[in-house]
Amino acid sequence: MAEGNGVLIIGETLGDELTLASQEVLAAGRKMADDLGQELAIGIFGDVGGDIAQSAIAQGADKVYSVTSPMLADFQVELYLAAAETLCKETSPSIVLIARTNQGREVAPRLAFRLGVGLAQDCLEVSADAATGRLLANRPVYGGNAVAVVSCNQTPQVAAVRPKVYVPLEPDASRQGEVVSFPVDLDDSIVRSRVIEVVKEEAEGVKLEDATIVVSGGRGLGGPEPFAQLEELAKLLGGAVGASRAAVDSGWVPASYQVGLTGKTITPDLYITIAISGASQHMAGCSGSKAIVAINKDAEANIFKEARYGVIGDWEKVLAAMTETVREL
Ligand code: FAD
Repeated sequence: MAEGNGVLIIGETLGDELTLASQEVLAAGRKMADDLGQELAIGIFGDVGGDIAQSAIAQGADKVYSVTSPMLADFQVELYLAAAETLCKETSPSIVLIARTNQGREVAPRLAFRLGVGLAQDCLEVSADAATGRLLANRPVYGGNAVAVVSCNQTPQVAAVRPKVYVPLEPDASRQGEVVSFPVDLDDSIVRSRVIEVVKEEAEGVKLEDATIVVSGGRGLGGPEPFAQLEELAKLLGGAVGASRAAVDSGWVPASYQVGLTGKTITPDLYITIAISGASQHMAGCSGSKAIVAINKDAEANIFKEARYGVIGDWEKVLAAMTETVREL
């Protein structure tokens, strides 16, 4: 039986709200805690206002540790790490979960190292084996071509969960939980790098990761100009534009457009791919789409194995006809 007790989430906040990714991890953690018959706790760092603790409880937490220090006002990785390490050491959880956001990518490996344990990175699914207390994590390996089931044999068992694979629980305001004040003593001299400014990326229209319809373009478009036509179709459909890594690496669109293993994970209702071959690393970011429509001139392209509907042909002609039809609807 694994040592420690309970599932602890290292929470992430934006303003006075838990990030969507942390809400998703709460859903994953709730199920694991139920399966183990243990408690689900979440650490919330800094003096965040609002009803954040109550909303974490409404979304599944049994206990909220309000980890406070005047030095936790802004995210500085060394200070957050020191606070998270103290929280883990003093509360001795059996399992620690972190959302694999940009912040989570910085914190999770370093936290695991400081705790002297391994890390199940980029998990697509996490579960708990009630008989052994073991965390079981499904994670992509070989560039997304296979999924390995990982279990950790040290305590705590730490996993970073990929955003957009879990759906947050519906808030239940009647849920009861405990809020525990957890002040930490931090030394500012440990800070080696500082966040000087946070610049919000201005994006028009729907965000790629929130869009229910996404139109993505790949290398077969041949250059940056055709993306204007993808934008037009996406706008008509109320959706967003994405891209393959080949299009991003060519400098045709910003990195924030990239869908895939090393880009964003999206789960739209409709995913239209235009001149994308459907490499496994691309599919790793969009295989949760409800329906994929592919336009590609190569009938043998892998994308047709994944798509519900496919058009074999030159993208220019097909996209023009599709846009025209949508415009007339
Ligand atoms: P290609 O594979 O070159 O495909 C272009 C397609 O366009 C072809 O199928 C071709 O038939 C079609 N085409 C050409 N002309 C036309 C036309 N006129 N009309 C219609 N169709 C046409 N990739 C990602 O996308 N996201 C990732 O996050 C990602 N992460 C990676 C991580 C690692 C570790 C590695 C090794 C690779 C990663 N890749 C990722 C790269 C991935 O392996 C592929 O190289 C990439 O997805 C290919 O992009 P593409 O489909 O646009 O280009």
